[in-house]
Amino acid sequence: MKVPFVDLHAQYLTIKEEIDDAIARTIANSAYVRGPEVEKFEQAWADTVGVDHCVSCANGTDALYIAMRGLNIQPGDEVITTAHSWISTSETITQAGGKVVFVDTDADTFNINPALIEEKITSRTVGIIPVHLYGQSCDMDPIMEIARRYGLWVIEDCAQAHLATYNGRQVGTFGNAATYSFYPGKNLGAYGDAGSLVTNDSQLADWCATFARHGGKGDHVMEGINSRLDGLQAAILNVKLPHLKLWTDARRCVAARYDALLADIDGIVTPPVALGRGHVYHLYVLRSDHRDALRKHLGEHGIATVLNYPKALPFYPAYSYLNHSPEDFPVAHTHQSTILSLPIYPEITEEMIQYVVEKIRDFDS
Ligand SMILES: *Cc1c(COP(=O)(O)O)cnc(C)c1O
Repeated sequence: MKVPFVDLHAQYLTIKEEIDDAIARTIANSAYVRGPEVEKFEQAWADTVGVDHCVSCANGTDALYIAMRGLNIQPGDEVITTAHSWISTSETITQAGGKVVFVDTDADTFNINPALIEEKITSRTVGIIPVHLYGQSCDMDPIMEIARRYGLWVIEDCAQAHLATYNGRQVGTFGNAATYSFYPGKNLGAYGDAGSLVTNDSQLADWCATFARHGGKGDHVMEGINSRLDGLQAAILNVKLPHLKLWTDARRCVAARYDALLADIDGIVTPPVALGRGHVYHLYVLRSDHRDALRKHLGEHGIATVLNYPKALPFYPAYSYLNHSPEDFPVAHTHQSTILSLPIYPEITEEMIQYVVEKIRDFDS
């Protein structure tokens, strides 16, 4: 048996007619960049998250950059973020003129440890970017409390956390703004790059929308960038959005099966979920002290796994200039050699899940 890490084609087949229609309709209208499908999606996504405004853009990385520019980041301003994320979170801080300040993670949730944020705050700190990694919300109460106390903005990186909740409230509604990626493999994915930022701040939304579209159409009130959502991608997202809730439930069922079936296997730590978190399982990440050998064993049996990510951010060459050592981020550093992402997607079958678990059990014995 072969178990791919994700199977985007399997999902396409379940909605093929609607998708094909939406693509044909968009081409018939020549509505390639922005247009009615984009406006419809922006409204629908704002409604889904429960915020007033959604500004679509080309991808989730741009969304972070645009949001920071909208919050008026200045050269040399320090922005605090997690040591464990995809590099978009930190590279955009630098692109926007800021200075990246990493904080170590929590041992269970892989998310930024709020107890370690305050010691990193200086007179130059302007904001915090918590990342709801793998689909589990960060501990938002203490993060928002620190932000309020020090007058910092918060941008939630929700690229992996569509519909995730914290104490019953949806992520993306806590910070000054939140950013989403609709990259094909994300929980809500287009058929190419796509992204958005959401906010309740109408002035911020206006500024970001103008900035992302060359600083205004007709009247350039400022210099901007070109970061727009394609009509085709919006049309696809409009077809997929109504399915997101069920797909999220399906991911939760897969995770629950893995949790149950892996529970008694020595040396495998299944991903803990903290109290009050509605995890949406963009990724199912277990831990093993024999991660590399386990990964090789699974690969030999046709099971694809991924490392999200091979290193914690401070330990990539891109950040060697910060001169960090493992002791600076002991938790994230330990995780980088123990984490392993198993295949998880709404269309994975019970048979495949059992096969994956059987092969993990083989390895153990
Ligand atoms: C995917 C991702 C992004 C960037 O999204 P793109 O649409 O690929 O630019 C940002 N942050 C995190 C945590 C991500 O997983």
